[in-house]
Amino acid sequence: MKIITSIFDLNKEIKNYKNVGFVPTMGGIHNGHISLIKASQKKKKKTIVSIFVNPTQFNNKIDFKKYPRNIKKDIILLKKLNVNYLFIPNSKDIYKFKAKKFFLRKKDKILCAKFRKGHFEGVLNVMNRLMSIIKSKDLFMGEKDYQQLYLIRKFLSKKFDVRINACPTIRTTDKIALSTRNKLLNKKSLNKASQIAKLLIAIKKRSKFSSSTFKLDLSDYKIELEKKFKIKIDYLEFRDEKNLKLNNLKNKFRLFIAYNIDRIRLIDNF
Ligand code: AMP
Repeated sequence: MKIITSIFDLNKEIKNYKNVGFVPTMGGIHNGHISLIKASQKKKKKTIVSIFVNPTQFNNKIDFKKYPRNIKKDIILLKKLNVNYLFIPNSKDIYKFKAKKFFLRKKDKILCAKFRKGHFEGVLNVMNRLMSIIKSKDLFMGEKDYQQLYLIRKFLSKKFDVRINACPTIRTTDKIALSTRNKLLNKKSLNKASQIAKLLIAIKKRSKFSSSTFKLDLSDYKIELEKKFKIKIDYLEFRDEKNLKLNNLKNKFRLFIAYNIDRIRLIDNF
């Protein structure tokens, strides 16, 4: 595995991106990331993984500071997986050149965009920069961050003529979606996260089987969950898979949640 830390070296190393799949990450590599790498390896001859904890997508300085980082462990893991290139840029390199700035319209200020001001603008702007540096035509991203996937498809896939390969959410055996942030949770909170995930899977199942009679308004569930688990839920909503509009359970839909537990914010969808 070649470890590359500058745009200059990257351009020297990779001249032809035709066979290279791109997996952008913020590190803290876990089985969710690994599933994207494996999907890329299945489809492309070579794979480039990036690790960049992008400061502009954190709407809270403390969150950025305490975001789990373990580059040494990541390198060992990625080497074992036979990743071809690992790109670890620094902020200066990423933000030194001029690039178009993206802003969300009112229509897109839903779900996390409503609760994390500037977050997706930060994501879109850094992905715009990364995609103009790494000219791969196949990006591998997780459905775990469904709104991020949706917005990158909407704003960037045409611009760069890139295919966004969506990969399913990888969970632990007790149904917790893998996330680097889980490292910040204690046993008790992990146990709660597992119970919450199981309950939401059950709600989704029920809504699917009795879509005509199922109550679309989830506010009672929201209050119940907040009370039972002592969490603060930002949103709990059914939304259309394709356009993220509030859903009447007729088209394909997902159940989206974001909640705060022990001052850690978790998101998931089912
Ligand atoms: P992150 O390092 O959290 O920015 O995530 C990098 C990529 O991995 C994103 O495309 C995420 O959606 C994806 N990802 C994170 N967690 C999971 C998971 N549990 N299952 C599948 N993909 C994931």
